[in-house]
Amino acid sequence: MICSCGAETTRGTVIFGVKGEIAVQHCKVCRPELYEGPRRDPSDMKIWIGPEYMPNRYVKTSDADGPIYMATDELQQDTLDAVSKKPEEALRSEQLEQELADKKRATRRTAPMSEDEMRRAVTQAKQIAKAIEEYHATIQ
Ligand SMILES: [Zn+2]
Repeated sequence: MICSCGAETTRGTVIFGVKGEIAVQHCKVCRPELYEGPRRDPSDMKIWIGPEYMPNRYVKTSDADGPIYMATDELQQDTLDAVSKKPEEALRSEQLEQELADKKRATRRTAPMSEDEMRRAVTQAKQIAKAIEEYHATIQ
């Protein structure tokens, strides 16, 4: 943007009035104090990570090589929770599988088929075999 101060910059603020007129305009050149510190801004073309993104969730110390940022215990626990949590879909699928297993366990057959059940099953199997043969004949 080009600010009213004349500077061309990637960070600035324009506030319009009720009639569409520019009411307030400033940028990081004319008002640098308003643009200090880390800020997530696409125009920075930078990925903000860890302590830049969540400064209050890190403890800053330093040694001879410079600053060291340590994740707080709370952040470490939240991160562990996030990566160990199963996706909702997997949970649903597991739940469904468990329900089907429970149903099967509750209704599974434990006695042999009676003569009548055997006759009906064989009749049904013959009907299926006949349907398969007929279908097979039509595609020859
Ligand atoms: Zn400006």
